[in-house]
Amino acid sequence: MSSTPSTLQEKIARLRTSFIAQLPKRLEEAQHQLALFQADPCMNRVAVVELYRTFHSLKGTGYSFGFNELADIAGEAESYIQKMLNLVDESVSADWADQVIALLQKLSSQAQTLACTDLLDDHSLLTPSFKMNEEQQAQPDALIKQKLIYICDDELEQVSHLSCQLRCFGYQVEFFTETEAFDEAVVLKRPDAVIMDVHFPQGRTAGTDALAQIQKVTGQHLPAIVLSGFDNFEARLSAVRAGCQSYFTKPAKPLALATALDDITNDDPFEPYRILIVDDEPEVAQYHSLILENAGMRVYQLSEPANVLAALQEFRPDLVLLDVYMPECTGLELSTLIRQLPEYLSLPIVYLSSETDRQKQFSAMQVGVEGFITKPVIPDELVAAVALRAERMRALRSLMIRDSLTGLYNHTTTTELIEAALSQAKRKQETLCMVMLDLDSFKQVNDTYGHVVGDQVLLAISRILRHRLRLNDIVGRYGGEEFAILLKDITPEVAINLINQLREDFSTIRFSSDDREFTCSFSAGISSFPNHTRAEDLRIAADKALYRAKDKGRNQVVLDDGL
Ligand code: GH3
Ligand code: MG
Ligand code: MG
Repeated sequence: MSSTPSTLQEKIARLRTSFIAQLPKRLEEAQHQLALFQADPCMNRVAVVELYRTFHSLKGTGYSFGFNELADIAGEAESYIQKMLNLVDESVSADWADQVIALLQKLSSQAQTLACTDLLDDHSLLTPSFKMNEEQQAQPDALIKQKLIYICDDELEQVSHLSCQLRCFGYQVEFFTETEAFDEAVVLKRPDAVIMDVHFPQGRTAGTDALAQIQKVTGQHLPAIVLSGFDNFEARLSAVRAGCQSYFTKPAKPLALATALDDITNDDPFEPYRILIVDDEPEVAQYHSLILENAGMRVYQLSEPANVLAALQEFRPDLVLLDVYMPECTGLELSTLIRQLPEYLSLPIVYLSSETDRQKQFSAMQVGVEGFITKPVIPDELVAAVALRAERMRALRSLMIRDSLTGLYNHTTTTELIEAALSQAKRKQETLCMVMLDLDSFKQVNDTYGHVVGDQVLLAISRILRHRLRLNDIVGRYGGEEFAILLKDITPEVAINLINQLREDFSTIRFSSDDREFTCSFSAGISSFPNHTRAEDLRIAADKALYRAKDKGRNQVVLDDGL
């Protein structure tokens, strides 16, 4: 396994270099502000505020990047200015300005020393190394990787049928009728999971024995399920001893197997936590976002607090990381403003600040922020603090936004997400397609096989939609047996092919109830942006197309004709 920690370290080093490169200019500005204030203390009070800000930010950023000496000096200067701001004039020592000038000079010489250090080579200056998440790096996050499943069973007809069904559920499947061929394949390419028969001509537990042998030789656990024609103690015990997680007897329902495979391959497509960072210092924001992105999170950086509402609406973060001290408005004001909007009442807000004053932290907590992280952050602690709170938010939100049977987005959420995606597509000038999909003659399924079996069909289609579409596409249960899908950055021609493929695969899945088997189909209508520019128009057009598909005999996909 190769990892590339240097990439992140280099990125951080580059940020630090850019911070240092900007130091002389910032210090020069600080000197200018000081001169302004000295020239006319009454008129130029705002200059002191600016000065305070500069020192405060040099202190915070300095510590974040590990320039402790520089940060110490900036902190000293900050406290002088703070006294100037807080206290009545006579209590400030007369030579305060000289002290600040001296500190500014110290800062300049620190800046020069740092500028001479080759940061990219100086590993002692780098923050702790990180584990790169290879999966994330190697794979475009919008695509769901197909899992590779090996089936080993000597009954050719059954096994090819099962392979076919599992492929419809979005698995990549290879099958073997002999354990030797299976052994060789595992050595050549390790599957994500195995479905193994127990009984083979060469032995009553030859299948599970082969599995046990492979685990022993490779020393690695291979996620496996047994699918056997036998249901006896010997077969079951051999499965347990081979480390199999579940045991199915033939004929097993493909949906049940797919669900078990999901469990053992941990195949819930995980959506990265979305974190909004509001910080007026781009380097600091960038630094924190590198740490979080490296832990697999998706980060949106905002330096203008005025844009926070648009960012919240469009990016839909799981958590907001807020700088306390910003020139335009304070973190306290911003979090109060966010909290006054009902839809963000439960959104976790965490302060990030170089503020160590307990009293100030306490008053910040009173407006209902979830936590207070002190700069400089320790990367692992930042990740843990953010992940913990974001996860709690996810769990809570999931109950509110997902449909309890299928786990897909519910009606309200789907509508909201589509609105947001549409405005994003407008900004990015991307095309997108909306699909309305409805199961055919579903009432008949319920009437013939019962509601429970009907639910299985709903689960199967939901699973297929979720696993076969991209992570950033929106899939929602719009009504009982009606689904709304938004496909991003795609032309209608590609969309119709994609949905047709899903339709064909879905229609080949065999459902069973007692000893009766049946198949099911769906019809779909597709509309697109920019043909339609409002979400409601998109939906109506897709709906009309859907009803044309129904009229034309069902089990087909119709593209909106724009009429
Ligand atoms: P069409 O091809 O025209 O869409 O016919 P249809 O029978 O699918 O449409 P109809 O709207 O007449 O019936 C939809 C059925 O879906 C009726 C309802 O009982 C069933 N249904 C809705 N929600 C659920 C659910 O959660 N579980 C089950 N099992 N059935 C559901
Ligand atoms: Mg229907
Ligand atoms: Mg319907």
